[in-house]
Amino acid sequence: MTTARLLADLAEVVGPAHVLTDPAVTSAYCTDWTGRWRGVAQAVVRPADTAQTAEVVRRCAAAGVAICPQGGNTGLVGGGVPPADGRPTIVLSMTRLTGVDDVDVAARAVGVGAGVTIGDVQRAAVAAGLDFGVDLASRDSATVGGAIATNAGGIHFVRYGGMRAQLLGIEAVLTSGEVLRRWRPLRKDNVGYDLPGLLAGSEGTLAVITGALLRLVPQTRRGAVAVVAVQDPARGLAVIDAVERAGLTLHAAELMTEAGLDLVHRHGQRRALPAGTPFAVLIEVAGADAGDLAAVLAEASVDDAAIDDSPAADLWALRERHTESIARDSTTPVVKLDLTLPAGALGAFVATVERLAAAAGVRPIMFGHLADGNVHVNLLDVDPAHAEDVTDAVLREVAAVGGSISAEHGVGRAKAPWLGLGRDAVDVAAMRAIKRALDPAGLLNPGVLGL
Ligand SMILES: Cc1cc2nc3c(=O)[nH]c(=O)nc-3n(C[C@H](O)[C@H](O)[C@H](O)COP(=O)(O)OP(=O)(O)OC[C@H]3O[C@@H](n4cnc5c(N)ncnc54)[C@H](O)[C@@H]3O)c2cc1C
Repeated sequence: MTTARLLADLAEVVGPAHVLTDPAVTSAYCTDWTGRWRGVAQAVVRPADTAQTAEVVRRCAAAGVAICPQGGNTGLVGGGVPPADGRPTIVLSMTRLTGVDDVDVAARAVGVGAGVTIGDVQRAAVAAGLDFGVDLASRDSATVGGAIATNAGGIHFVRYGGMRAQLLGIEAVLTSGEVLRRWRPLRKDNVGYDLPGLLAGSEGTLAVITGALLRLVPQTRRGAVAVVAVQDPARGLAVIDAVERAGLTLHAAELMTEAGLDLVHRHGQRRALPAGTPFAVLIEVAGADAGDLAAVLAEASVDDAAIDDSPAADLWALRERHTESIARDSTTPVVKLDLTLPAGALGAFVATVERLAAAAGVRPIMFGHLADGNVHVNLLDVDPAHAEDVTDAVLREVAAVGGSISAEHGVGRAKAPWLGLGRDAVDVAAMRAIKRALDPAGLLNPGVLGL
């Protein structure tokens, strides 16, 4: 079948207005958030619901055309953009699946379409007197489908876990066009393999997620935020430990460095601590107010802290404005490496990355989710010709100290060549077997994950 014939067929399924082929329109779908990854697609296809998604997948599979599922396109590893190798591919944009069911307050659950943003899930939950356990700075663009496919973590991982932990059920289209649906608001349901859990983190390579039944959590009414100056990450972990031992509920714990704080300050954010603070930790607690948190921090003998009752938007902006300030400041697409370190290795690792960056003549800005050992290494002003070398050096270092080459953003295209640093041969072979079983023709997101 010719591509033109397939696109005409797909237009019958989703309507001609939702098969986009004008390069001026499709280029935004073919370029990732960082600007580092650009691909080529025959069209962007925008189904309205599960039935249309299934029909699009069935017709593409019959024509041997690859499918790149896409949500809000905020992923940071190039997984949501098509390949650049010329292979016939469509981008399957899931942003029209925006249905939100009534919140089941008794079961603390809500069913949503894959295209609903994380921000809209939060708003639906709050309107029903509940909350959603995942939050991230990209909340108003990142979709439920994309967040599940990357198993997004975010700022409340320390309290509620990531997207996988929020899944009570899932609906997804398999490459056969069949619809897999597990949709019961049950907390315990051990009948066989955890297929929703398998699709969490599958990065669009196993199925197209069309909806999810999400666990909700009780709303936290009182809270407090502190930005605390510390000399090194180990001291930051000790302060977090003191806060938890005092009986406060840790809601978030974010690490920032002097270089990152200087950068967001240069991009317009007011300082909360004096310049020259080597590291700062943003701590949010739940069920307590600023006075309670101040008392615990005083007991832990912290040097300097700015404290406010939640939501403390000004303090949170220091952390949340890192990503956009970094993107605006770098002269070349930023090399972003999202890593987990064993708790005791974090301080030495930060120093090592600073050394490697200085040797390569690039600027490092690091921040992350301290309580999870998760550090986001951002390398600015990297000559694109050297991006792979500098990536290789950092990923080898993290593997050498027993960390993970992907904490929460996934592998995507960015880290596919280094899959073997994160998983051993038997593990990779088992993942390949799963991929072959669910996608025998290799049509779902080829090249992503390196399988
Ligand atoms: C400012 C900023 C802050 C961020 N903070 C965090 C953070 O704290 N924690 C974190 O984990 N991430 C973070 N991210 C990364 C990103 O927002 C998340 O990975 C997010 O979950 C991606 O959602 P998306 O809808 O944009 O997915 P996309 O970027 O569109 O896609 C991501 C991956 O999911 C696949 N996919 C998308 N939709 C579907 C679907 N319906 N079915 C199957 N596969 C699908 C794609 O093929 C791709 O592999 C941040 C990004 C930005 C820009």
